[in-house]
Amino acid sequence: MTPSGAEVLRQIKSRIDEVDPGVVREQLGNGAVVVDVRETDEWVNGHIPGAKHVPKSHLESRIEGAAPDRSQHVVLYCASGNRSAWAARTMIEDLGYEQVESMTGGFTLWKDRGYDVEIPRAMSAEQRERYSRHLLLPEVGIEGQQKLLDAKVLLLGAGGLGSPAALYLAAAGVGTLGIVDDDDVDLSNLQRQVIHSSDRIGVAKVDSAEETIKALNPDVNVVKHKLRIGPDNIMDVLPGYDIVLDGLDNFPTRYLLNDASVRLQIPVVSAAILGFDGQLSVFKPYDGPCYRCLFPVPPPAELAPSCGANGVLGVLPGTMGLLQATEVIKLILGIGDPLIGRLLMYDALAATVTEVKVRRDPECPICSRDPSEISDREMGVFPDYEAFCAGAH
Ligand SMILES: [Zn+2]
Repeated sequence: MTPSGAEVLRQIKSRIDEVDPGVVREQLGNGAVVVDVRETDEWVNGHIPGAKHVPKSHLESRIEGAAPDRSQHVVLYCASGNRSAWAARTMIEDLGYEQVESMTGGFTLWKDRGYDVEIPRAMSAEQRERYSRHLLLPEVGIEGQQKLLDAKVLLLGAGGLGSPAALYLAAAGVGTLGIVDDDDVDLSNLQRQVIHSSDRIGVAKVDSAEETIKALNPDVNVVKHKLRIGPDNIMDVLPGYDIVLDGLDNFPTRYLLNDASVRLQIPVVSAAILGFDGQLSVFKPYDGPCYRCLFPVPPPAELAPSCGANGVLGVLPGTMGLLQATEVIKLILGIGDPLIGRLLMYDALAATVTEVKVRRDPECPICSRDPSEISDREMGVFPDYEAFCAGAH
């Protein structure tokens, strides 16, 4: 005779360890990973603070993202303690986890006891659909998507690098995109600046970019800064942003950006392009070298022409801008190995990528100092970079 569902469940519960919600409450933050195995519509109505979300239906494929170490202590819970018992058995008997418990009474008992509950901000049905491919990734999920929606990223330039980066950051649901650009769309831009279009020639780039972004994803708040970044305004523009994406085309402003971002401790994802070659790095203040550690003085003019009309293969800024967007998203989510202390060089003609390590310079005039030693009066006061760069030529 086939045993009833209740009998099977009783047998399973006899083979796993169960734990009272009061004990789980004590264990929170004490090394135990608490995993909610309910479905997403249950999770979003409230869950145990600090819990990770791995629906039972995706347990096998996603539990490693929440609990990578099979010897670590894992507590599972569901609504009443039944699904979590099944999941605990699967983790122990099929997946090789050593220390898994199921919380008795589930989230229902937890709530009845009056313990703390965290209610995630609601994501609309449309957002769940729009970002569904992110929600399927354990490294992103609902929490990661909320981080993206909360993030504020400043794009310096809506040109070759900023255009593709802005498109994909907007598509990914980065909630606030600030765009700094004082130019209008020109016909010669359209070979690579894909956020603009032929019918927008003569329109301000910030307005054109905003129109494209809004059409792509209404979740994104576009903040337009129609100006040329300089010593007089950089300390007004940068504060409040989490990350800066540097699509600048000249060295004086690159040094200015570096000094301001180090003082404000805002990471900068930087790329440079010329001809068929691109460079990329992430400058996270005090966590790795800054731009001045890498380039104490600007390279000679023939190696680093700034502004003016330089040839560039149209797809190259696309490649580099998307690598920048990728690094931005990694920083927001706190996943992977960001390109901190590493300079990546892409040769499009050879189809090769090389990487060099970059160390912090202990003598760096900017990042060797403690930011707390930098007085308010110094903030935003910079040497004459035009003369500095001109001297190097
Ligand atoms: Zn430095």
